[in-house]
Amino acid sequence: MKPLLPTSTAGSLPKPSWLAEPETLWSPWKLQGDALVEAKQDALRLALQQQQHAGIDIVSDGEQSRQHFVTTFIEHLNGVDFNKRKTVKIRNRYDADVPCVIGEVSRSKPVFVEDAKFLRQQTKQPIKWALPGPMTMIDTLYDEHYQSREKLAWEFAKILNQEAKELEAAGVDIIQFDEPSFNVFFDEVNEWGIATLERAIEGLKCETAVHICYGYGIKANTDWKKTLGSQWRQYEEVFPKLQKSNIDIISLECHNSRVPIELLQLIRGKKVMVGAIDVATDIIETPEEVANTLRQALKYVDADKLYPCTNCGMAPLSRQVANAKLNALHEGAQIIRQELSQNN
Ligand SMILES: [Zn+2]
Repeated sequence: MKPLLPTSTAGSLPKPSWLAEPETLWSPWKLQGDALVEAKQDALRLALQQQQHAGIDIVSDGEQSRQHFVTTFIEHLNGVDFNKRKTVKIRNRYDADVPCVIGEVSRSKPVFVEDAKFLRQQTKQPIKWALPGPMTMIDTLYDEHYQSREKLAWEFAKILNQEAKELEAAGVDIIQFDEPSFNVFFDEVNEWGIATLERAIEGLKCETAVHICYGYGIKANTDWKKTLGSQWRQYEEVFPKLQKSNIDIISLECHNSRVPIELLQLIRGKKVMVGAIDVATDIIETPEEVANTLRQALKYVDADKLYPCTNCGMAPLSRQVANAKLNALHEGAQIIRQELSQNN
């Protein structure tokens, strides 16, 4: 039987120091060739074990096989030149040196399917796999070819759909699209962002999720959060249309954020991965703090649709801190499970 309040993480977990520089985004690999392939698989096994020991119900690869949640996927596509770089502002927030789209984009072979098959072999638990969403992909590139954000997003949606179908065939139970850009470009989200996301999930029978957060706990993001005022109402702009979309699950940031919890009303009927772990601090949540966030969310989300989760990926944290946070997530969920079973 499916457990009540199945726990999961938004995505990434810290990498071992023998694989990549710890506590760093875009950290270069420390190995090459066959040794790197083997090391990534070993790291995936460890990340899985770490989640299992903590009692996480829906497990992932902890993104051990990729350097970055967007760029690694794009690296495998045709039409993008990684040697030709331009500076753009990512999510209207920080400058980054990004590759250029120089021709038609396409996928000549699967990107993560072998990694997903490997994870599938390691566990019978439900597995979740993360892909970047179309809008977040275009926001991480300089486009010389299409010169239209919308056009490029539709192209990426087609490619993502090919990859997603193969991930589903490999046994992935939930495919998640990371769309932090949905929290920034509201007009575009409503005009074509959600439509391109629905194109990416077309024909899938497995469950689908979209993760919308306020970013990793890096300085550019924490500085931006300081400018958002006492109430973060960004979700209000996109939730109504998302509620009507075909996406099954919405993954969002709650704990320690200034998101008014009642905004969850706007996605009534959807399953919600409620972020009950702050990834922007090393302070470990107590189980009671986690339980409290979940209790608040339960006012607006039915118990059978609530999935306790982390606010975002934990790649920039130390392994120790990430481990302790996973334990807290499980223990906090246990408190609420007990409360719910007593009330029934
Ligand atoms: Zn995130």
